[in-house]
Amino acid sequence: MSLPSKVSAATPAPESAPRQRRPPRHVQVSRVQALSPAMRRITLTGAELEGFAPVGPASYIKLIFPEPGQTEPSRPLPDGPRAVSMRTYTPLAVRPEALEVDVDFVLHGEGPASSWAAQASVGQVLFLMGPGPGYALDADAPHHLLIADDSALPAVETILAALPATARAQVLLEVITAAEERTLHSPAQLDLTWLERGTDHRAAGLPTEKALRALPPIAPDTNIYLACEAAAMRRIRTLLTSELGVSRNQIVGRGYWKLDVRNHPDHDYGEDA
Ligand SMILES: Cc1cc2nc3c(=O)[nH]c(=O)nc-3n(C[C@H](O)[C@H](O)[C@H](O)COP(=O)(O)OP(=O)(O)OC[C@H]3O[C@@H](n4cnc5c(N)ncnc54)[C@H](O)[C@@H]3O)c2cc1C
Repeated sequence: MSLPSKVSAATPAPESAPRQRRPPRHVQVSRVQALSPAMRRITLTGAELEGFAPVGPASYIKLIFPEPGQTEPSRPLPDGPRAVSMRTYTPLAVRPEALEVDVDFVLHGEGPASSWAAQASVGQVLFLMGPGPGYALDADAPHHLLIADDSALPAVETILAALPATARAQVLLEVITAAEERTLHSPAQLDLTWLERGTDHRAAGLPTEKALRALPPIAPDTNIYLACEAAAMRRIRTLLTSELGVSRNQIVGRGYWKLDVRNHPDHDYGEDA
C-alpha cells in the first residue's frame, strides 16, 4: 500500500484531542454538622457548582485543601502540578438547585483532609474536582452484600438509595464505636449490622472478618461491594473467595485508604492480589 507523499511510515498517528479537564470549582463551606464523634458532615456551596450533578452511586470527587501556612488553597492552574493536599471523597447528597453538595468526613486523626474537617467553619474555601464514576450497580440483582468501614459509609448510603424495592441488601459496617451508628434508608429490604473496631486503626477489617465467618451461606447470585482499608479489603476478599464460596467476579473491591500511607491512590481495586 502506498503512503501519501508527505507521510512516512514513521509519522506518528495524529493524537486524539487531549481530554478536556473541567477546571476545579471554587466552593465554600455553608454548614458544618457533627453527626457523631468521628463523622463531620460539611456542606459545600458556590456559583461554580453550576452543572455539578451526581454520576451514580459511590461516585467520587477530589477536594483540594490548604497547604500548611495557607488559610485557603490556591486555585490550581489548568496545566499546573497536581495539588499536594488533594484527597478523594464521596458526594453524599447533591442538591443542584441549591448549588450544594454534602460530604461526610471521618475524623481519623492527622491528614490534610481529616485535620481540615476537624476545624472547618462556614466561609472556608476548598477547590472541588469531579465528579467521577463509582459503582456500576446492577439494579436487577436480587441480593447485595455491602461491606464497608466508616470511610465508605457515605458510598454505601448512595448505593442503598439506588437499590430497588425488589432487592435485598445485607450491610456490614465497621466503625470506631457504637456512637457512630446512624439510621440508613433504602427502598430495598435491609439487613444491617454495625461492627465496632475501636480506636486502634490497626484492627481495621478484623471485626468484619469475624462477622462474615458467622454469616449463613452467601447466595450465589449476590453482588458484593467491598470498600475499606486497603489491606483489609484484600484479606476480606480472600476470605470471601477461599472460605465462603464467593467467586471473585461477584466482588467489587476498593481500598479507600491504607494504614500508615498518606494519600493512598484513589483507584485501588486490589488488582495486585
Ligand atoms: C472513591 C473514594 C471515596 C472516598 N470517600 C470518602 C468519604 O466520603 N469520607 C471519608 O471520610 N473518606 C473517604 N475516602 C477515604 C479518604 O480519601 C482517605 O481516608 C484519605 O486518606 C483521607 O485523607 P487525609 O488527608 O485525612 O489523610 P492522609 O494524609 O491520606 O493519611 C494520613 C494518615 O491517616 C491514615 N488514614 C487515612 N484515612 C483514614 C481513615 N479513614 N481511617 C483511619 N486512618 C486513616 C493513613 O493511613 C495515614 O497514616 C474515600 C476514598 C476513596 C478512594
